[in-house]
Order: sequence, then structure tokens, then C-alpha cells
Amino acid sequence: MKKMAIVCSGGDVSGMNAALKRFVEYCFRRNIEPWFVYDGYEGLIDDRIERATYASVAGIITRGGTKIGSARSKRFMEEHYRKQAIENLDRRGIGALVVLGGDGSFRGMHKLTQESDLAFCGIPATIDNDIAGTEYCLGVDTALNVIKDAVDAIRDTASSFGRAFVIETMGRECGYLALVSALTGGAEMCLIPELPYDLNAYKRDFLKEKEEGRRYFIAIVSEALNASETVAKWFEEEIGIESRVTVLGHIQRGGVTSVHDRLMASRFVTHAIDALLEGRKNSVICYNDGGFEVKTLNDVALSHYQIPDELLNLGKEFGSNC
Ligand code: ADP
Repeated sequence: MKKMAIVCSGGDVSGMNAALKRFVEYCFRRNIEPWFVYDGYEGLIDDRIERATYASVAGIITRGGTKIGSARSKRFMEEHYRKQAIENLDRRGIGALVVLGGDGSFRGMHKLTQESDLAFCGIPATIDNDIAGTEYCLGVDTALNVIKDAVDAIRDTASSFGRAFVIETMGRECGYLALVSALTGGAEMCLIPELPYDLNAYKRDFLKEKEEGRRYFIAIVSEALNASETVAKWFEEEIGIESRVTVLGHIQRGGVTSVHDRLMASRFVTHAIDALLEGRKNSVICYNDGGFEVKTLNDVALSHYQIPDELLNLGKEFGSNC
């Protein structure tokens, strides 16, 4: 019987638990012995590696986060510690690893496979949706739904009190969450790093709308711009409306896993295990145009993710209504 392990690395996302459940179930279906690596690459180094059973994944499909923990690991950057990780896997006869994480995690794992006979398959998992080569990363849909609920709730108070709310969404360098949330949340303003913006154009629109009776504004601003406080001040000084900033922060990472992410978790994991069984050594499962592909690490790690033009074009309509 072959042995395979799964590890979560980097930022956690809602959908990782659903992936763990599918991992265990599909391993047994394919006559593979499933193993869990706890606490990311730190657990690989420190030998926190345990056999997984059906009981280990009972009742977790709804829950955000990850039952086996995740971590960033500075030590994994050093060959000496990676050697320790290899020894821990070798001792148990584990020859293949599924990694849920971002491109940094995949790069780290690539090094491990170069230094051993280990094979790995990556599953893109980050709410930022910023991994090149795949249009979808696990956890994004749940994060968007958490943001949607927050924006809807803020709209209730904004409309009652006649205020401008600047809502800051996550995304270290990528405005995907902000753009989709603005488009689906009925926001008046959307600021993301991928699109230039003109506050004067917004001002012309907003003053006119205010004159015509608009009582409140919702602005969605990507954290990548680091501009939320400035925009709030702009609302007070230029538009003449009281403003508040809401930084959504880590609530975007948690929450009950959406139907889409549960299904995507199951599909990603199935393709990852299949790829490993077919003998792929260094690959990442990508989702594009409604289907899955097995790509090489270079396809995802050597270029930058770009939001599709068609979506960006919708975003260009913000602040240009005059
Ligand atoms: P993400 O996977 O979300 O991109 P990071 O870039 O923080 O997150 O990477 C997660 C972990 O992957 C790091 O803490 C480190 O252990 C490992 N890692 C990243 N890049 C490398 C590298 N070049 N060499 C070895 N390990 C790496």
C-alpha cells in the first residue's frame, strides 16, 4: 500500500478541512494510506506526522481553518532542516505529499523534492486569489461571502445614519477580493492596485448624487493600497459627509465553508492524488475555464497573477460615470 501525506502551509483558508476530509476518503478508495502533517513545514521538521483515519475527519467539512494547523516556517528555508523533514517522511515510507498553500509553499516544497525522491502536488489555497496559472484558489468563495455579509450589514447602518463607509478588504498585492466585492456588493467606489483611479471624477459624481438625495456611500478599498484612512478623510473634506473605516481583517479567512469551496476542495484533492498516482513529481493543480489541469511549478511560480481583463473592465466603470 502506498503512503501519502497532506500538509497545510502559509495562511489558512476556509475549505482546507473539506480538503482533508476528501483526502482521507479518496486515499482509502485508491488503496493509499493517508497521513497528516501537523502545523505546516514546522511539523515536517519536528516530526508531527500522524496516520489519518475516517474518525480524524468526521464532522469537519463545515468548519473554516484547518484541523491539522498551518504555519510559516523560517527553518524550512535552510537545507539542514529540510533534510530533517525528508528523514521524517522516509522513515515512514511516505513518498508523496499534497500541499495546500500558496506559491511560496510550492517553491519550498520544490526544493525538498530536488533534495530527495519525494513527489509533491500543490493545491492553490489563498483568499487573495493571486496565484498565477489558476483562475481560482481554494477559500476565495467563502471569503467573498464573508465580505458580502459584512458589506450588507454595514449598508444597513450606513443608510440609516447617512455616512460614508470605507471597507478595507484583504489582498497583500492583489485587488481581486475588493473588485469582486465592490461589483457584487453594490458599492459606489472601488479602489484596487490594478486600476488607476481619479478622485476628482468620483467627487463630481458623488456631489451630484448627494444633491439628488443620496444619503450614504460604500467604498471598497484593497489593503494593498494602504489608503483607507486617506479615503475616509477625503469623504469628510471633499464630499462633506461623515465617514468611518471598517477594516475587515481576519474575519475574511474564517467562516463556514461555502458550497463552492467544499466542492472545489473535493475536486482539487481528487486531481492532486490522481496526478501523484500517475507519477507526476512536481506539479500544481490549476483550475481554468471550468476544468482542471496539472501544471508545472514554473507555470505558477515564475509569473504574476493578473485579474482577467473582462473583470477589470467592469471595475473601470467605478468613478467614471460622468
Ligand atoms: P504562501 O505559500 O502563502 O505563498 P509563504 O510565501 O509565506 O506563503 O511560504 C510559506 C512557507 O513556505 C514559508 O514559511 C517557508 O517555510 C516555505 N518557503 C517559501 N519559499 C521558500 C523557499 N524559497 N525555500 C524554502 N522554503 C520556502
